Order: sequence, then C-alpha cells, then structure tokens
Amino acid sequence: MARVSRKNNIKAEISSQTTYKAGLYARLSVEDLRKKESDSIGTQMSLLRQFAVEQPDMELISEYEDTDQTGTNFNRPGFNRMLDDIREGRINCIIVKDLSRFGRNHIETGNYLERVFPFLGVRFVSVSDNYDSLTASSEDGLVIPLKNLINEVYAKDISKKVCSQYEMKRKRGDFCGSFAPYGYIKEGNTLVVDDKTAEVVRRIFRLVIEGYSDSAIARFLNDEGVPKSKSKYWYKSAIKRITENTAYLGRLEQGKYRTDLMNGSVRVNKSPELWVVVNDTHPPIIDHDTFEAVRKIRQNRKQAYNDAVVKANRPASSKNILKGIMYCADCGRPMLRHKVVRADGSVDYCFLCATYEENCKDDCTKKSFWESELLPMLYSLINSQLQTLTDVQKIIENVRKQANYVKKVDTTEESISKLKSRLSRITALRSSLYENFKAGVLSKDEYMQRKATCELEYKELTGELERFEAQEKQNAALLSQNKWAVAFNTFSAGKELSRELLISLIERIEVDSNSDVSITLKYRDEYQALIKMYKMEVSA
Ligand SMILES: [Zn+2]
Repeated sequence: MARVSRKNNIKAEISSQTTYKAGLYARLSVEDLRKKESDSIGTQMSLLRQFAVEQPDMELISEYEDTDQTGTNFNRPGFNRMLDDIREGRINCIIVKDLSRFGRNHIETGNYLERVFPFLGVRFVSVSDNYDSLTASSEDGLVIPLKNLINEVYAKDISKKVCSQYEMKRKRGDFCGSFAPYGYIKEGNTLVVDDKTAEVVRRIFRLVIEGYSDSAIARFLNDEGVPKSKSKYWYKSAIKRITENTAYLGRLEQGKYRTDLMNGSVRVNKSPELWVVVNDTHPPIIDHDTFEAVRKIRQNRKQAYNDAVVKANRPASSKNILKGIMYCADCGRPMLRHKVVRADGSVDYCFLCATYEENCKDDCTKKSFWESELLPMLYSLINSQLQTLTDVQKIIENVRKQANYVKKVDTTEESISKLKSRLSRITALRSSLYENFKAGVLSKDEYMQRKATCELEYKELTGELERFEAQEKQNAALLSQNKWAVAFNTFSAGKELSRELLISLIERIEVDSNSDVSITLKYRDEYQALIKMYKMEVSA
C-alpha cells in the first residue's frame, strides 16, 4: 500500500507551482583525462542528481554528457542534444557542476547565459558557483562566475606566453622535454650523459648491427634484468624508439608537434622543415657512423619485408577495428593484434596477450584468439540486440495500437479521473462530518467511527491513484529516452561491423586463458529497463 495523506498533499501543492524540467550537463575535459578520475562524468552526474532531487521545484528529465572535448569548442554532441531539447520544450532548466564544465570560452558562455537562455526562458544553475539565474539579480548575478571564466582566459594567455618562451628556448638549444631520453639525465636546460644507462644504449646499437631483432634485444635486456626507466619491461617498441632517436648524436630536434587546442587538444605532427633542430647541444652517446649504419639496417629490413610482401602477393594489413576495446582478462593490458599469413595466402589476425608475448612470460599466461572467429561473434551479438530492439519497439507499438490497449489507456485515464472525484467527495464528506459533530447531529462515537471509515477509504484511493499515475508516466517516458535504444537506433540490422558501430556499443572485450571471451556492452542498465518494460507490456 502506498503511503498517503500529508506528504501527498504537499506534493500536490508544489506541483501546482512552476515545476522546472531539469536537464543535467556534465563534461569530461582533456585536462580531466590527464588528471584521471578526479572529476569524472560519474562524479559530476551523481552530484547533479543529488542536487536536482533535493529541489522541490525541479523534475529531472534528462542527462547530457560530453567526453574528451575541450571547453574552447562548443561543438559538443551532448551539448547540442541539450539545446535541441530546450528548443523543443522538453527541458527548461540546466544544471551544471561549475561554469568551466559549461565552456571555457567566456564570450560564448556569456552569450548563452546572458542572451540565449533568458530568451528561451531557461533557468540555469551552476552548483559549485552557487549561481541560479532564478534568484540572481541581473546586476550582480553573473559577476562572480564570469570572473572565474575571465581568470581562465588569463591562464590561457599565460600558456601562450609560455609557449613562445619554449620556442625561444628550443632555438637556443635548451632541452624542453620533461624527461631526458634513456642514457641521459636532465640537468637544468641541458642533457648530461648517465654512464650506466648510456652503456645500455651503446649495446642496443651494437646488437642491431650484429643482426638481432628488436624483440630479441628486448628479451636479452629483460632476461638480464636491465632496468628500464618508465615501464617495468623492455618492449621491442622501446628498442626501435631508442635506435631512431637523434638525441644520441648530441642533436636536439624539438617542436615536432603542436597542440591544437581549438580542435580538441589533439597533437598534430609538424612537417620536418618546421622542427627546431640544433646540433651539438650536449655530448653524443653514439657516433654518426654507428647511427647511420643502424638506420641503413632498418631501411633494408623494411625494404626486404615490403619486397617479400609484394613477391608473395600478400594482401595489405587491414585496420584494427577493435583497437582500444580488446584486453587480456588477466593482466588487463590491451591485446596485440598479430598478422598471420596462411599457406593459401589468406590473412588472419590473432589477438595475443602483450605481456606474455613481449618477453615477460611469468607475468601472464598465453592467450590467443582469432579475429576471424571474434568478428562473427560480435556481429551476431550486435544483430541479436538490434533484433531485440526492433521486436521491443514493434511489440510496444503494436500493443499501443491495439484496441484493447487504447481501451486500457482510456480506462487508466478514466480511473484516474474517477479516483480524483471520489477523493474530493471524501474530503468534503470528512469536513461535513466534523460540522455535524460540532452541531450535535452526530455523537462523538458516531463521528469517530465515520471519520475512521473515511480515512481508510481515502488512503486506499490515494494509493490506487499513485499506482495508475506511475504506470502512465513510465509507459510514456521509457522508450524515447532510452540510451540503449537511441544508440542502437543509429544503426540498422545487417549493416557491416564498423569501428564506429563497435565502439559506440561495446565497452570492453576480454579474452582469458581458456579462450573464453567476455563482452561488456554499453548501456546495460538502459537495456535492462527496456526489457523489463517490454515484459510488462507483453504480460499485461
Ligand atoms: Zn595478459
């Protein structure tokens, strides 16, 4: 039985005032990603949800989020969806954690806060800034939050100045990296040779010249327990990087990348003529002839490989569409994708545990899984989910179209209005009882007895009303707002597996040593909610 009386009356009272339809907006910036989980979407959202729930005049309608976008760019999918919902009247209140979540560009942010939102009649709340457009007076309302944004702008100017200072330092031949290359130690603005590790660098060059492969060299170093500065083990990629680093010649090549803040903080490669190259900035570890010899060996190896590929008429490698979602179930490292050319010339790829394959057999166990087996599995999984979605949508729609469903909706509506009129009659009756008791028409016992009957009936009716109303609401809201349905709806059944499709639907794939694959799909809760609703509809 649902609980009644006072609480319900209060609710009814409030809902007769303006109730704001609230949307929560959270953003994870590139800066956050660097700082790891400190201010994750999850933390922001739970704070916002808690805030929204505590507001008597707000109803939480929708949540929007953007990941990996800089605030300097207003082109954000979650943000755009939020604007659409505002324009279509689905929400009229936005809640953010702080203004920096909303955007770092103070002109744009100011434009939204001062012009766009007031014009659209949108209430804007920034929880950490203690700002609420409803209560803020137009004079001082924005001063404090905008001040914060202007501070950010200053911070940006400073970073620009730092950038040009770096440019100067680079041209002077100062070392500007945070970490010295292996074999050196950073001392102030210059590199000095670290005798111990410099010897390892010389040995690596020697071993390449003696004909060892990068993985063989990595294995030697791991077997001997030669310490590596940043990671625990030597990998073949580290060997390659070292033998290609011109810093060992006493030369600094800097300013190879620029960070494109306006386009989401991506690192863009500069063309070599824009690099800042200064010779003889620090003592060399490798002489020019050795370095050149190693470069030639690499070049020849690459050529030989390419020739072999051409000669064997091998097909070119395909792109790894599972990049970033394939993991080893035991060590958690991303899996290697190893190309295998079969005797018949066909190409397949094998996913292997990187920890096990790259020389560290004690740290994990052997695993392998063929891409040619995995992709059909994923395809059928996604297709079956798509099929489910189609079924769910069809059935829900069919049920709604059917005469008895319409009748059911009608009955629900009818029941609700009947219950409401009965409730108001009882309220009237209850007050007339008291009048009659006061006027002496009813004795105290009669009054108490009739009053109790009244209360009981009131309680039952309110409970029933609550149930009907909840049902009505749930039916209306669920399908159109279901994230799972929305994500799947952008793809149609039978479509080819694309990376776009995979990363939008699959969170993670893990392979264990029994070659069992576990696939974690995104939007699991939303899927469950929809299935639950579907079952309710079917059984009703
Ligand atoms: Zn592993």
